[in-house]
Amino acid sequence: MIVCKFGGTSVGDAVAIARTADIVRARLARTPVVVTSALAGTTNRLIEIASHSARGQLIVALSIVEELRTRHLEAIDALGVGDDVELVSDTGAMFDELAHLAEALSVLGDATPRSQDAVAAMGERLAAPIVAAALARIGVPATFVDARRVMATTADFGKAEPRPDEIAIACRTQVLPLVRAGRVPVLGGFIGATADGVTTTLGRGGSDYSASLLGAAMDAEAIEIWTDVDGMLTADPRVVPDALLIEHIRFDEAAELASFGAKVLHPNTIAPA
Ligand code: ADP
Ligand code: ASP
Ligand code: MG
Repeated sequence: MIVCKFGGTSVGDAVAIARTADIVRARLARTPVVVTSALAGTTNRLIEIASHSARGQLIVALSIVEELRTRHLEAIDALGVGDDVELVSDTGAMFDELAHLAEALSVLGDATPRSQDAVAAMGERLAAPIVAAALARIGVPATFVDARRVMATTADFGKAEPRPDEIAIACRTQVLPLVRAGRVPVLGGFIGATADGVTTTLGRGGSDYSASLLGAAMDAEAIEIWTDVDGMLTADPRVVPDALLIEHIRFDEAAELASFGAKVLHPNTIAPA
């Protein structure tokens, strides 16, 4: 079994999601578990929703909610899964929940780390069912799994710490039975929940970390991180355009690159791997 994580640009629009679905289908023989980020840029927009709401700028916040709603519904239509009644109604319900959250924050005039997480988690909550539907559409027996039922964390909102023993138990009850039944579980990265079921996040870029935590919990053969570059490079290509691809890298070197700010991997990703 392998864990395949797809970053925001890999699920940025319908074309990217369809390509991601093809990549997963090509790996069926290795029994993939899929971890997805939010559609590119979504988490930044969600954080703006929380901050505008908390400043009382509810109209601006709600206009971003509608922009994201349109974008997600367009992706659903363009993927040809618009006739999936449950997907469309669940997506609509999540946007209604998001609008209610924005209203609540504007009434309070404040966004606590806990409520920021409730808002920021929406990106992955929205993306995972869409990716699962895109997989089903091309014949992959995918099942959406709410990552909050698996990724047990502390209540350190905004930078929650994983609780590996609970994650392993949840994998045994929620994820591995699907794998054994020949299905492809699809989970959102980045998000988790406290023991009381309150939504948390692992910190920005945390989907990589989710993938490695799940890989460790299920003793996966490999954890694949699919993104918009060919691999780890000698430098950030946005700063150094002729940065070179590193063919092989030791775990400790990769961890060092990540912790010194190479955005390609969340700094905590290597340890579980
Ligand atoms: P994703 O949304 O897939 O997680 P990220 O934007 O978080 O993608 O990470 C990929 C980006 O990391 C690349 O587009 C690249 O600009 C940047 N990056 C920074 N340092 C490095 C590096 N040393 N090697 C590769 N990519 C890097
Ligand atoms: N969507 C989250 C973020 O933008 C997590 C991730 O993409 O890894 O930070
Ligand atoms: Mg990232």
